Amino acid sequence: MIEVIPMKSALPQPTKIAKVIEESAQVKTFVLEAAVEADPGQFIMVWLPRTDEKPFSLVNADPVVITVARVGPFTEKLHRLRIDDRIWFRGPLGRGFELRGKRILLIGGGYGVAPLAFLAQRAVGARRRVTAVIGARSRADIVFPQRFAELGCSVVLATEDGSAGVRGLATDVAELLLERGEIDAVYACGPKAMLNRVLEICWSHGLFCQLSLEKYMRCGLGVCGSCQRGGMLVCRDGPVFACSACTAGMMQ
Ligand SMILES: Cc1cc2nc3c(=O)[nH]c(=O)nc-3n(C[C@H](O)[C@H](O)[C@H](O)COP(=O)(O)OP(=O)(O)OC[C@H]3O[C@@H](n4cnc5c(N)ncnc54)[C@H](O)[C@@H]3O)c2cc1C
Repeated sequence: MIEVIPMKSALPQPTKIAKVIEESAQVKTFVLEAAVEADPGQFIMVWLPRTDEKPFSLVNADPVVITVARVGPFTEKLHRLRIDDRIWFRGPLGRGFELRGKRILLIGGGYGVAPLAFLAQRAVGARRRVTAVIGARSRADIVFPQRFAELGCSVVLATEDGSAGVRGLATDVAELLLERGEIDAVYACGPKAMLNRVLEICWSHGLFCQLSLEKYMRCGLGVCGSCQRGGMLVCRDGPVFACSACTAGMMQ
């Protein structure tokens, strides 16, 4: 069957940067002069001419907001952009989170908090009780320490060096919360080791769990196959996957 790709998803749309927020030494948030209809967990492909095109999760849809960690050439260039600079994007793309249950737990590490902040906003709006566990190496690396609280979530910070919140990993904290039996569904985004642990914990508690996964991608539309992971395409079948799909070889 031929899949019809909407033109809006296939061609980068120009827009401008309306606001730049420094979240930490390595992370900036960009508010764009654009709006889309999107679900939390979906992403956009940002294009910079003569540079590249890379995926970023939506932190907000109206206006479009992305939060970017400076890790290489593309994000280095993005971090140099200022208010009124031009930027192009395609999307929203991919499949987002599915809200289930009344009491939900969000577990985020690093810039993994980006799609979770969008999910928190929707979940609170839908009268879910939301707890967010945010993990980082140290205080200076925590992204969105206030954002989740301002949205109305209970927030627990976890740092590896103990400089803020609980000393330890976000997954250690999550495990303690899950043992109280007060959580119906878990949503996580962050480094691979963190997601593997989330998967183990949720599996052992028999909990509904969705993870946002990453893989280098090119087209973002399920055509080129470069983001294939365990027989699934992260851009088209994900980036959000339920535990069952993840366990079928996606987490290696
Ligand atoms: C669906 C999706 C959503 C994303 N959302 C965000 C977001 O909200 N904010 C954000 O900052 N980034 C996000 N990313 C990651 C971002 O697209 C990459 O980090 C991008 O490659 C950075 O480009 P670069 O040229 O700056 O660095 P690159 O040169 O591409 O990467 C620098 C280093 O980072 C590592 N790396 C980069 N990307 C990946 C990856 N996908 N998997 C494993 N290792 C990697 C590599 O080891 C590499 O050495 C997302 C990725 C995906 C697939």
